[in-house]
Amino acid sequence: MRYHTPKSFDEATAIAARASGVTRFLAGGTDVLVQLRAGMVTPDDLIDLKHIPEVKGITRTAAGGWRIGIAVSGAELGRHEALCADWPGVVEGMNLVGSTQVQGRATLVGNLCNGSPAADSVPGLIAAGALVTITSAAGSRDVPAEEIATGPGRTILKPGEVISAITLPPRGAHGGDAYLRFIPRTEMDIAVVGAAVSLTLEGDKIASARVALGAVAPKVLLVADAAKAIVGTTLDDTALEALVAAARAAANPISDKRGTVEFRKEVVGVLARRAALIAYARAKGETK
Ligand SMILES: Cc1cc2nc3c(=O)[nH]c(=O)nc-3n(C[C@H](O)[C@H](O)[C@H](O)COP(=O)(O)OP(=O)(O)OC[C@H]3O[C@@H](n4cnc5c(N)ncnc54)[C@H](O)[C@@H]3O)c2cc1C
Repeated sequence: MRYHTPKSFDEATAIAARASGVTRFLAGGTDVLVQLRAGMVTPDDLIDLKHIPEVKGITRTAAGGWRIGIAVSGAELGRHEALCADWPGVVEGMNLVGSTQVQGRATLVGNLCNGSPAADSVPGLIAAGALVTITSAAGSRDVPAEEIATGPGRTILKPGEVISAITLPPRGAHGGDAYLRFIPRTEMDIAVVGAAVSLTLEGDKIASARVALGAVAPKVLLVADAAKAIVGTTLDDTALEALVAAARAAANPISDKRGTVEFRKEVVGVLARRAALIAYARAKGETK
């Protein structure tokens, strides 16, 4: 195995483009190193991205959003007060990943690129409308977060491509988001179902919304019908019922040892409803 420590994304993409066997990038390593030790994957080239200067940054964009470096850990996100104030749902998703030790390393980009349909930070990123910057020798392009994973363990990234940053849009006034998951114990488990909602208000009415559901399909779903069910409403009981129905209709889960199809379909409606109520209260400034 060749271990590389590039000092720039240009260098990283050049190494990745030259690599011919199994290639893995190292952000926090909390997926890669576990897979390596379990013998699930043996990379020919392991490209450690943490030596690139900008990867630890959390900076305001000119538009008023946030640019998050690819090696920023969950713990670092959780300590960033201004980011937490703008996007509490994104941060709470990431902060549910693993334990205190895992939080010191695990990153948003690693969670996204591992390609798990149950990845806890991904519904929040998708609901937020996050953009992912993909860099290669040919240049950089921004792709919506919902387009990165294509199925369990699979992404759209081609050989020689690396993610160089994640950008969250400006939150703006009167916006709120939230992420909730169900696990059978209090922590350190894989989501049986996850749901994230991001919305903006004009007065008491919802002006825009995005709803993303985790662990109920081969990849995290962005559910336009669930958003449509609440836009233009004050999130009254009728709107909430429509949201629940749309979330359940979109869910196409499997039965496994964590939960049956029927259970997941039931819970996804419950979580979408609760996440919408939290996002709404946050948008109104009633809760953090
Ligand atoms: C004890 C434990 C508990 C866990 N609990 C949870 C949990 O509750 N919820 C949850 O969702 N996950 C959980 N995980 C999984 C893991 O911690 C997360 O998926 C984490 O966010 C991965 O981030 P990382 O930076 O460590 O990724 P890494 O291991 O560094 O990388 C993961 C994947 O992303 C790719 N990658 C990394 N950076 C880039 C890049 N810049 N460009 C392109 N590809 C890249 C790598 O090639 C690799 O395929 C847990 C893991 C452990 C060990």
